[in-house]
Amino acid sequence: MQYKRILLKLSGEALMGERQYGIDPKRLAEYAKEIKEVVAKGIEVAIVIGGGNIFRGVAGAANGMDRVQGDHMGMLATVINGLALQSALEDEDVHTRLQTALEIKEVAEPYIKRKAIRHLEKGRVVIFGAGTGNPYFTTDTAAVLRAIEIDADCILKGTRVDGIYNTDPEKNKDAIKFESITFKDVIEKGLKVMDMTAFTLSEENKLPIIVFDMNTNGNLLKLVSGGKIGTIVEN
Ligand code: UDP
Repeated sequence: MQYKRILLKLSGEALMGERQYGIDPKRLAEYAKEIKEVVAKGIEVAIVIGGGNIFRGVAGAANGMDRVQGDHMGMLATVINGLALQSALEDEDVHTRLQTALEIKEVAEPYIKRKAIRHLEKGRVVIFGAGTGNPYFTTDTAAVLRAIEIDADCILKGTRVDGIYNTDPEKNKDAIKFESITFKDVIEKGLKVMDMTAFTLSEENKLPIIVFDMNTNGNLLKLVSGGKIGTIVEN
């Protein structure tokens, strides 16, 4: 196996499947199966999940809502997604723990780094909910932060596109995919991988980011087994 401990970042939108809003149970079940395969290989898996399928603070602010209030709603949305993912993983007999950056003790454990690492060492999947716990941040930043804290080997950003291209492949047929690219080149070429806060945090801490297509069955396992999948961003 290429990696021992990974942090998988899933966007909230990924959970929508074909829907316009919310959670597609079929998609969720597929993800749970993919994650189970990786756990079965002895890889330690931590997950940060977004909330964009339910609520985003910026969208609320655009409609006149207080931004901080909206961001709190967004963070709670990630907890809803975390609970759904936990449930889907448990249906696959995968042991999990949900830890949240905002305390909701009756529902999930509070985030405690040492506890999270202990769970991972015991083979449990740890889902981190509520982002960083602070407004004005994103779950991409939460993913990088948690990955650094738990000393993950890399961050795997599961998307519907199979890597980083020089131009949007969904709009331009001639788009060229990078197999690997440096942090510096991503910035120089004006490519979008993550928001700048998340991206620079990753660069400063030499945490590689791999962008890959999470919607193709078997990709996650191939990737952690050393297969050439997606695009790796390195220092
Ligand atoms: N959010 C936040 N602080 C964080 C992470 C998330 O306030 O540390 C809020 C923010 O409103 C954001 C929403 O939660 O829009 C959902 O997260 P995100 O947009 O990152 O989800 P994704 O795009 O991955 O689905």
